[in-house]
Amino acid sequence: MSQSNPHYPKLFEPLMVHNHTLKNRVIMGSMHTGLEEKKGGFKRLAQYFRERAEGGVALIVTGGIAPNFAGRVSPFGSQLSFPWQVKKHKIVTDAVHKAGGKIAMQILHTGRYAYHPFSVSASAIKSPISPFKPKALSIRGIKKTIKDFANCAKLAKKAGYDGVEVMGSEGYLINQFIVSKTNKRTDEWGGEFKNRIKLPIAIVKAVREATDENFIIIYRLSMLDLVEDGSSWDEVVELGIAIEKAGASIINTGIGWHEARIPTIVTSVPRANFTWVSKKMKPHLSIPLITTNRINAPEVAEQVLSNGDADMVSMARPFLADADFMNKAEAGKPETINTCIACNQACLDHAFKNQIVSCLVNPRACFETELNYSKTDSPQKIAVVGAGPAGLSFAITASEIGHNVTLFDASDEIGGQLNVAKQIPGKEEFHEMIRYFKVMLRDNNVEVVLNTRISADFFKDADSKSTGFDQIIIATGITPRVPDIAGIDHPKVLSYLQVLKEKKPVGKSVAIIGAGGIGFDVAEFLTHEGESLTTRPDAWNDEWAVDPSYENRGGLKKQAILEESPREVYLLQRKHGKVGAGLGKTTGWTHRLALKHKKVKMLNRAEYLKIDDQGLHIRIGDEESCLAVDNIVLCSGQLTNNHLYQELKSTISNVHIIGGADVATELDAKRAIKQGAELAVSI
Ligand code: FAD
Ligand code: NAP
Ligand code: SF4
Repeated sequence: MSQSNPHYPKLFEPLMVHNHTLKNRVIMGSMHTGLEEKKGGFKRLAQYFRERAEGGVALIVTGGIAPNFAGRVSPFGSQLSFPWQVKKHKIVTDAVHKAGGKIAMQILHTGRYAYHPFSVSASAIKSPISPFKPKALSIRGIKKTIKDFANCAKLAKKAGYDGVEVMGSEGYLINQFIVSKTNKRTDEWGGEFKNRIKLPIAIVKAVREATDENFIIIYRLSMLDLVEDGSSWDEVVELGIAIEKAGASIINTGIGWHEARIPTIVTSVPRANFTWVSKKMKPHLSIPLITTNRINAPEVAEQVLSNGDADMVSMARPFLADADFMNKAEAGKPETINTCIACNQACLDHAFKNQIVSCLVNPRACFETELNYSKTDSPQKIAVVGAGPAGLSFAITASEIGHNVTLFDASDEIGGQLNVAKQIPGKEEFHEMIRYFKVMLRDNNVEVVLNTRISADFFKDADSKSTGFDQIIIATGITPRVPDIAGIDHPKVLSYLQVLKEKKPVGKSVAIIGAGGIGFDVAEFLTHEGESLTTRPDAWNDEWAVDPSYENRGGLKKQAILEESPREVYLLQRKHGKVGAGLGKTTGWTHRLALKHKKVKMLNRAEYLKIDDQGLHIRIGDEESCLAVDNIVLCSGQLTNNHLYQELKSTISNVHIIGGADVATELDAKRAIKQGAELAVSI
């Protein structure tokens, strides 16, 4: 018998599924990357998946592939229906198998979520998140759809996949048949629950018949719809049992329809917040069960398995962040894992904007054939000024490829603005990013010099330790913008740094000038007291009306239980549009809703007239008023802090500038990290 892993014994326990030995308990969950549709994308996908298989994950699930035209995500979305389409998939399966991994293809029929006018569903009811009204499938159409799933699975087997995942959750076609609010049919595919679940049962049976007894069929079961009139718990159990009987090999957990207004994976969701629902399902099944959502660290996964919540754990985004996640866990080095901070900024936000998916903390994700950290033939001595994400990313990448790097920062800690971001309730994951950078600086032997503000003279002084640098990288970040408003020097006025970093006292009523990412974060900070909801799952579930006792359909509480804000807060912008319109595509709505819970008053079209003892005087349209607040907090954007670069570049040629110091507009950690890594490989 093989020895169990001393660090994570449950996580590294092998599991037999038919005649397949899964080497550990982790699957890489399905993620659409955008490479599926790109010319030459399958070659890039092969390298992306190969690195994850080499990194030790037991089973990979691909992004969703449609079984027919109507089921495509978009008009040019990927589909597997014809034998000529098999060849390109083989590049992927061969790469994964050569690396000792296993891979299943997800079959996804989007139903009414399709972003094209040919969408179909159980009934002709438009979803709230799609512009297209679907056509109700005819009975012939339903039978054809079942055949299409079977054909797709057969072709997937031919392409070398070890199995398929039938996507039955997140509100896609299968879900639309199961739930009465989207299935108003009066024939044998609608009406009673037993009719509404005929489609998934028939699909799983047909897929099994079209393949063989050793083909892995994962069924993603919607265990918690999180929408009004979703499935009841008894219905979920009945379906799970029926799906097992129909021939599924593994049941995966699906949480929340895409149209649900409850966050399920963003960074403010407590880690492993939904595994209770898998645990509730487990006694009803005899096949392996996978649990999921906001599991991003090996100790969390181990805990979930030890609790008996499930037999396996699915992580998706954590494998964008770090392909070697499992190998590092197996070696007992969790501190070296580049942790997914659940920001969605480079993954889901990109997918929803039709851009190639990547990762904020790992710009190589999905760019494995383009951005390579190969060892340099000519090591150089490099100085980096500024240990924010841009400087850190440059320093660790440059040292990894063989350069000799010294990193300077004026502060007594590395991280730059990440140290400010981590103060925000719901942004606790930023601590992980800083921890990772610290460990990488150590492991790559970067010399770190803190408490040292660098001036231009430093590099000109022949006697100082500054001599002999081949390259100088300026990553000095930004300075907050101070708007030109009468009375801006009034003692009521505070900068976001005074509030978040210096922890200056803030009164009971506050006006925030500027409603960008930082304005929203400051509002979040000021409307919370005590421990963050993210570390109090019960309170989080109360706030978002998630009901672990599952008394009502969809797993929703009848009413949310909200904690009151300790302050009255106004959040203002000059623009005419919706306040918060510029926030992340897939996360902005959660920030807006969270502040609505705290009764934050969001005002657009604000003209700032003056600040005095009375408060902040504004005009909106023709109406002038005074917000009689105790404090006004400035979150009015940022300006480049590039004077060091400007001074140096007039006399030195080997000086480069990155991050906020380079361009402050629309700067975020994603851009800073990417720019740092790209400069390091090109220098
Ligand atoms: P900075 O992080 O500003 O780092 C610059 C560093 O240079 C500092 O450590 C500073 O001490 C040092 N320095 C400056 N001058 C000198 C000198 N002369 N000598 C030595 N050292 C010097 N981004 C996201 O992507 N997602 C988020 O969710 C997010 N949330 C945020 C929340 C808040 C509250 C804040 C304030 C920012 C947030 N950001 C977020 C923005 C993100 O942190 C910045 O875009 C990023 O830190 C910019 O990186 P940088 O390396 O260019 O600069
Ligand atoms: P920002 O998003 O550009 O917002 C700046 C705000 O200030 C805007 O609301 C702007 O709105 C206002 N403003 C600009 N000039 C002004 C002036 N002269 N007077 C008054 N108001 C003015 O920048 P930020 O909030 O400072 O954030 C900095 C960066 O950090 C952003 O680029 C962001 O990507 C990143 N960040 C991201 C997150 C995240 O969750 N992803 C969170 C925090 C920060 P009006 O012009 O309409 O008034
Ligand atoms: Fe995770 Fe953010 Fe990277 Fe997406 S972009 S994988 S959420 S760290």
